Amino acid sequence: MSIRVDGVSKSFGAFKALDNVSLDVPQGTLLALLGPSGSGKTTLLRIIAGLEWPDSGRIEEDGTDITDRHARQREVGFVFQHYALFRHMSVFENVAFGMRVRKAPHAEVKARVDELLHLVRLDNLGARKPAQLSGGQRQRVALARALAIRPRILLLDEPFGALDAKVRVELRQWLRRLHDEIGMTTVFVTHDQEEAFELADDVVVMNEGHVEQRGKPEEVFDKPATPFVMDFLGNVNVYHGRVENGRAFWHGVPIDYPDYPHAQARAARVYLRPHELDIARAPSGGPSEANQGTSLAATVLRQTRTGPITRITCQPQEGGSELHVDLPSAAARQLGLQPGEAVSITPRHVRVFLPDPEYVI
Ligand code: ADP
Ligand code: MG
Repeated sequence: MSIRVDGVSKSFGAFKALDNVSLDVPQGTLLALLGPSGSGKTTLLRIIAGLEWPDSGRIEEDGTDITDRHARQREVGFVFQHYALFRHMSVFENVAFGMRVRKAPHAEVKARVDELLHLVRLDNLGARKPAQLSGGQRQRVALARALAIRPRILLLDEPFGALDAKVRVELRQWLRRLHDEIGMTTVFVTHDQEEAFELADDVVVMNEGHVEQRGKPEEVFDKPATPFVMDFLGNVNVYHGRVENGRAFWHGVPIDYPDYPHAQARAARVYLRPHELDIARAPSGGPSEANQGTSLAATVLRQTRTGPITRITCQPQEGGSELHVDLPSAAARQLGLQPGEAVSITPRHVRVFLPDPEYVI
């Protein structure tokens, strides 16, 4: 089943939680809604679920307007961050709950629950109470319960948010496999970019009630459409620079920027990702590359190794804020830079945003 969100707005009092949001989710897609806390992700999910109503706009399923239908008539399954299992019921009865409410025959309930407990790898645990399970197991019960009514759409609101990092990574890989097995249209809310990028076919980045960007994970990562997306995806060096004559200037280092061919200089924001910077030991004596103005002269402050990546923090020689360069740890070891050494830094890739009065960073 496909979902279309068409021009949906929603206010709580004077506060606009969603501002004219439109979104297509094709059948079988696993779509991640990614954004900071308060950006409207849960509100949008609840409107898709039929638990909340938009002030304006429509929700369609397979082209049919279902805006006025309640959750029960929408064939949606949902799972929230805090697994709201019934504590006094066994795992089996928790999963069976929706089918019992719908008065499904006993034999059918038994067959379906067994099938689901197998699917979520909890065979033989049907008799336990939720308190006798780990957090990850409970969340899988919540998922089995959501699937029991054979929903045509699965909505997940930070389902793994309350779990520790290791379990979260396992569960999301498992969820991806499960999604591929059953091929349901799934909308998954997260504020964790790694989770979104690992899981999703499509990523929608939300900010203050609107969609900043939608795309394949690699598109959003490689071509952030706005300064917000760039910042939110984190790990960037941000500078105030300028553009003129088809070039942007970063600490005086020119970088091609054909989008601004005009002679009149304009202030710009320059964004550099730590892994898209080249770093080399500045040659002693003789004119260095840095001196020729194609790279930045800087001094190494420190190196921090986090597993496979080593981050080298540098201070531009002309002053200004510190700069991070990320290298594979093996390459950093080979280069063997020491604090205080002079280096030259060259961007392989740069993004320039001309300030838009709407963005305040
Ligand atoms: P997210 O899930 O992205 O963190 P939410 O959709 O939960 O964001 O909330 C978006 C904004 O709307 C927040 O500022 C939140 O405080 C507000 N909000 C959400 N639900 C309500 C409500 N029922 N009443 C008032 N404000 C709400
Ligand atoms: Mg939320």
